[in-house]
Amino acid sequence: MTDRQGLLIILSSPSGAGKSTLARALRTWDPTISFSISATTRAARPGEENGREYHFVSEPEFKRMVAERELLEHAHVFGNFYGSPKAPVLAAMQTGTDVLFDIDWQGAQQIRNSTQGLNTLTIFLLPPSISELRNRLLTRAQDDAGTVARRMEKSWDEISHWDGYDFVLINDDLEKTEAQLRSIIIASRLRRSQQTHLNDHVRKLQAEFEELS
Ligand code: ADP
Ligand code: 5GP
Repeated sequence: MTDRQGLLIILSSPSGAGKSTLARALRTWDPTISFSISATTRAARPGEENGREYHFVSEPEFKRMVAERELLEHAHVFGNFYGSPKAPVLAAMQTGTDVLFDIDWQGAQQIRNSTQGLNTLTIFLLPPSISELRNRLLTRAQDDAGTVARRMEKSWDEISHWDGYDFVLINDDLEKTEAQLRSIIIASRLRRSQQTHLNDHVRKLQAEFEELS
């Protein structure tokens, strides 16, 4: 038993709104936060390493993981399969560790509806404008023009699910958004349901109260 029940912190946004940048910043702020490394059937981009950004798997391997219920959630995004491995999350929950997910709205919904639903904290990032979203995708220089265009086409589909999240932040200023995310996490760790030591503490207060009265 730990003093605290870990949170499943889910960050979603249309591609290019700032999830990975903010997730990295959060990990620097609190290195105890663990990152969920998804399995995906998409090809690795230059600079990506198997087991660091993603577990890059074949389609038959992904289907096996789904069939054997190794994934907490899974979805088809931009023509590829993505899913969050269950085992590392359950291990983190046993030690009171928070886990951060960079996943889409379908995954967020599935985790919210899973047995871990009560420990879930969902945050959606909106871009300040669609033209700024496009600028960010272009300046990130990670994808060719066709891929950027496909991501832009899909962005409205993702944005249209903004109202299913606990918190919604407009990521116009990186430092401001980072500070807001930190506040949300600090406050959520104080939810009654996350503070598993409270029962013991209140029992001790009661014993002391009765002794003194
Ligand atoms: P996502 O992970 O959501 O696809 P990224 O984190 O890769 O998005 O961000 C896309 C690009 O936008 C990156 O080049 C990043 O540095 C930049 N970016 C993120 N947030 C901001 C912001 N608030 N202001 C300006 N640029 C930003
Ligand atoms: P990318 O290919 O740019 O890394 O990711 C594309 C989209 O897939 C992003 O919106 C990202 O949040 C989402 N994604 C990444 N991993 C997962 C996952 O495990 N499950 C779900 N549902 N979506 C994911």
